Amino acid sequence: MNEKTLVIATHNAHKTEEIREILGNFFDEIKDLSAFPEIPEADETGTTFSANAAIKALGASSILPTALVLADDSGLEVDALDGAPGVYSARFSGENATDKSNRDKLMTDLGDGENRTARFRCVLSLARGGVVIEEFDGAVEGTIATKELGSGGFGYDSLFIPEGHSESFGQLPAETKNGMSHRGNALEKLKAWLKAH
Ligand code: IMP
Repeated sequence: MNEKTLVIATHNAHKTEEIREILGNFFDEIKDLSAFPEIPEADETGTTFSANAAIKALGASSILPTALVLADDSGLEVDALDGAPGVYSARFSGENATDKSNRDKLMTDLGDGENRTARFRCVLSLARGGVVIEEFDGAVEGTIATKELGSGGFGYDSLFIPEGHSESFGQLPAETKNGMSHRGNALEKLKAWLKAH
């Protein structure tokens, strides 16, 4: 592991792929936790994206103190559900939730309600030596579809139609999603910070 290695504190291969596509040029190597089986799954006990991103970043950084570690905590806020699922997006339908069971619960909870506005949020926490160095956030506004549209991406992508588009993140090409997404916006801020440091 050298200066130009980034460790992403995630087991979510979709997140790793999106981060690699956007940050690829900045690092010689981008690894995620699949390369470090000794690092346990973080206990996401925080009630904010920021707190959970820090928990994940510090969990990996304490075991890999010389590495530059990046953690992503993200989720979907639906206005008609008072901001749910929010930080509980990955566990919305319970302990053994899958992306599909979470989307099904969202469709059931929202029903045919007219207010379908929502946003994805992302907080990135950058750590080294067991300390959070910097945090970056991003959001994208949109609406929740009335049925699944497309099969690209992951999580709630097939149900989220970003503002200014008629197709969901599950239908739009990955480059289009990355160019406007919550994660893409936060990663652009990280890129600007990396250029300056
Ligand atoms: P985390 O891994 O604890 O941050 O949970 C994030 C959860 O939010 C994921 O499991 C997805 O359900 C949802 N999510 C976050 N970002 C995205 C995205 O870009 N597309 C679709 N769903 C997302």
